[in-house]
Amino acid sequence: QERNPFEVEFLQAVKEIFDSLLPVFIKNPQYMENGILERIVEPERLLIFRVPWVDDTGKVRVNRGFRVQFNSSIGPYKGGLRFHPTVNASIIKFLGFEQIFKNALTGLPIGGGKGGADFDPKGKSDQEIMRFCQSFMTELYKYIGPDKDVPAGDIGVGAREIGYLFGQYKRLEGDFHAGVLTGKGLGYGGSLARKEATGYGTVYFVEEMLKANGMSFSGSTVVVSGSGNVSIYAMEKATQLGAKVVACSDSDGYIYDPFGINLSTVKRLKEVERKRIEEYVNEHPHAQYSPDCSSIWSIPCDIALPCATQNEINADSALLLIENGVKAVGEGANMPSTLDAIELFHKHHVLFGPGKAVNAGGVAVSALEMAQNSMRLSWSFEEVDVKLQEIMKNIYQKSMECAEEYGQPNNLVVGANIAGFLTVADAMIAQGVI
Ligand code: NDP
Repeated sequence: QERNPFEVEFLQAVKEIFDSLLPVFIKNPQYMENGILERIVEPERLLIFRVPWVDDTGKVRVNRGFRVQFNSSIGPYKGGLRFHPTVNASIIKFLGFEQIFKNALTGLPIGGGKGGADFDPKGKSDQEIMRFCQSFMTELYKYIGPDKDVPAGDIGVGAREIGYLFGQYKRLEGDFHAGVLTGKGLGYGGSLARKEATGYGTVYFVEEMLKANGMSFSGSTVVVSGSGNVSIYAMEKATQLGAKVVACSDSDGYIYDPFGINLSTVKRLKEVERKRIEEYVNEHPHAQYSPDCSSIWSIPCDIALPCATQNEINADSALLLIENGVKAVGEGANMPSTLDAIELFHKHHVLFGPGKAVNAGGVAVSALEMAQNSMRLSWSFEEVDVKLQEIMKNIYQKSMECAEEYGQPNNLVVGANIAGFLTVADAMIAQGVI
């Protein structure tokens, strides 16, 4: 706390992991040695840089860019870029810290990193987005590379932004290193099923959790927050598995459609026209819009999938969900539940899947994109989707086994944290004090 004053989100993420690790230290005291804990919370590198760009009126604007290269003990740094006005060092460090353990859980050789800028893409023209991305990459390109650090998308960074970032990297570097970014367009090294991976993976994981308890998505009512990349494909897969998704949101408000959300409308509004979710009710007048995104959790549902942002479910929202009979919560977003919300879910025996396990499908398919780029091959949608399903099942099983082995059966928070930690800590110990 003294070393990182005011970094509230980063301290929250560290506390969640460290609270889980006590049984590891009791059973294997060697993990207390070698300065593992002191080293693991200190990023290998945190880059902060100026991003100047010119808006459409000719005015010079300046944003702050970040990249945290947190841990490279099991592979090159890997993690998304977030463009959102709330981005600061604490947000980037919490995301980078989570990413270390998430990436280890996938079983693939990728280290932890994250980055972004306090830039708000909302309301900007295509040209402004392009100029911003080019300026951002003009600084970042010195520090990344296919075997060094491989960024991808996150909030506010989708295929359009990755395209502009890749174009500028290629121009500065002078070589076509496809593997330097993931989430690329399909025409220049992107992987089929990457766009769907985080949302589909979220649903695959939660389906495992439900199946083990005699339930399933089929016939259940689902609420999904957000209406971005993760939310849209979580809604799509949940619907394919027979669920009815009745609500989704953006940062302005939520829509409730008792007949089930019409996904093609949401996709067009959000992916093509870049409009607000409020517009949905113009086309589906029986649906309701409420201008308060946080009250989406007051809608009764069997399964809640928070897929928007950090700390979107606090204790009050958790209590509402519990009172309304929620059976399972799966975190598609990173750290969407506060620590006291998680405690309430556990106390009331709600099945709970933590983000670093549930949403690991995105980075897993990013690693598969890197593998395809290295081989100069592209796999079919089905091939990637089958691999994604296997990876999600493995993460579920590994987390359950670890929870059992360390005396907290069925606690996926503890299981996922310990499984991720052991992989990384073993690699750090093997590589000496670096
Ligand atoms: P997008 O930018 O595509 O979508 C984000 C959605 O969440 C939008 O609907 C956005 O609404 C909403 N949102 C963002 N900030 C807030 C806020 N402060 N309050 C309420 N709603 C908000 O991002 P992604 O779908 O890619 O990411 C969503 C979450 O999933 C993040 O936590 C991200 O870190 C996590 N994640 C993403 C992965 C990926 O592959 N993309 C992989 C693993 C995790 P609005 O348009 O109004 O801002």
